[in-house]
Amino acid sequence: MAEDLELYIAGEWTEGTGDAVHPLVSPATGDHIANVPLASQADIDRAVGAARDAQDEYRHWSAFERAALLHRVADAVEENVDEIARIQTLEQGKPYHAESLADIAEANEYFTNAAEDVKRLEGRVIPTTDRNKRMFTFNRPVGVWAAITPWNFPVTIPLEYLGPGLATGNAVIVKPPEFTAWGLLKLAEAFDAAGVPKGLVSIIPGGAEIGETLVTHAGVDAIGFTGSSKTGRRIISQMGIKRSIMEMSGNGPTIVTEDANLGAAAELAVYGAYYNAGQVCCATERVIVLDSVHDEFVERALKASENVRLGDPFEETTNMGPLNNEPTAKKMDRHLADAAERGADILTGGGRAEGFPTDLYYDFTMIDGVPEDALVSKEETFGPVLPILSAGDDAEAAALANRTHLGLQAAVFTSSLQKAFWYADQVRSGTVVINDSTDFWETFQPFGGAAGTDTGWGRGSIEEFTDLQTVVIDLGNVR
Ligand code: NAD
Repeated sequence: MAEDLELYIAGEWTEGTGDAVHPLVSPATGDHIANVPLASQADIDRAVGAARDAQDEYRHWSAFERAALLHRVADAVEENVDEIARIQTLEQGKPYHAESLADIAEANEYFTNAAEDVKRLEGRVIPTTDRNKRMFTFNRPVGVWAAITPWNFPVTIPLEYLGPGLATGNAVIVKPPEFTAWGLLKLAEAFDAAGVPKGLVSIIPGGAEIGETLVTHAGVDAIGFTGSSKTGRRIISQMGIKRSIMEMSGNGPTIVTEDANLGAAAELAVYGAYYNAGQVCCATERVIVLDSVHDEFVERALKASENVRLGDPFEETTNMGPLNNEPTAKKMDRHLADAAERGADILTGGGRAEGFPTDLYYDFTMIDGVPEDALVSKEETFGPVLPILSAGDDAEAAALANRTHLGLQAAVFTSSLQKAFWYADQVRSGTVVINDSTDFWETFQPFGGAAGTDTGWGRGSIEEFTDLQTVVIDLGNVR
């Protein structure tokens, strides 16, 4: 029986006033598991109006009062971890035991980190030329944020906006994709339980149309976007003069140098390609291996790939589930066909797996001898594939890593401290991870793209959810 879900608008659970409903089908089972009502223009206007009203009062709360509220939200989220993780697996496809539980178990951190940060968000006192003046800065809330979020981490990515957004005194309206909205709607029960003022948070699932309505809404002051560079470009052209945080696509290279620990490099490169079935913005999208260690690396990576267990995402032993959706699977098909046409060598996998309830289960795939201009090398594939490219020396490896239009998170394996810093200086990427996977992640990590790439600018700290206000006082004749 499919569950009839409700929208969370203005602090109330409602079917909304729209006519359309999205039938949510599980990528894992193929079953129709839920119905997601799609909001009408009137529903969206109501959410924005309520957000403005609620924020107008909430912006006067002290940082300590907001922090206490977020701690209550975090506690309420912790009550529901297993259930949210189960729903996430059902609607997204990621393995419950290997990934989903841990993913949701750290959901509370997005609120507790923000609660701690905001208490120490201090302004500055700035010297003036006039001895009778005093100048200060305050971090004020921006107002109403719309967070437009993707399906690959459908519960936690919205929290990257909700945690710091609420902590700094904003209202946040989240628009998750309609086909992975259930887990987040379940989590939203925590806002009620914690006593979040009605209207401060709304969750309105939907696709491009609902996203555009929010992005261009006159009552929305700021946009938080996590998704593809293509959509990001469209949003930037449409939103007008609004504050924004833009987190977009990646093509994470892993560089394996001559002095690398090859065992660790192979294992972590394989992990970075199969974790969440490769549907991660910082997945290991290509490995650049120095010629002298190429053969040994490939041998070890092939061995490591034997640990990938594709299967029912609710099985305890499964560490890779199905892809989430058909467009993503089709992109894998296209990129693999292109690599084969260009003469690359498919070492393992290479297509969809048979014998599963849906056609979205994809074999873990390793490809060697990948030419630089192959799609699997130059574009984000977003599937369980490890393309291997070769380089003659470090300079060539760094140059190859940099010839990309996406610079999000790179990894380098080396046992030399000097080389580690040399690569950090050379590689144009928002983050460079030394001796760990491109998938390395902490909930508080500054995260975003390198300037000049299509990845966007991400965020460094909680300040980015605020407007900087300068106050100048003339004290008269102090002396
Ligand atoms: P997408 O761009 O297709 O969709 C993202 C969101 O934008 C969805 O909610 C979608 O409904 C909405 N949307 C689509 N068109 C819109 C429009 N015209 N106006 C407003 N909203 C619109 O991306 P996706 O397929 O959901 O996610 C995968 C992409 O996200 C990958 O490229 C991945 O690298 C990227 N991503 C980046 C990060 C990061 O932190 N940099 C994290 C996760 C995912």
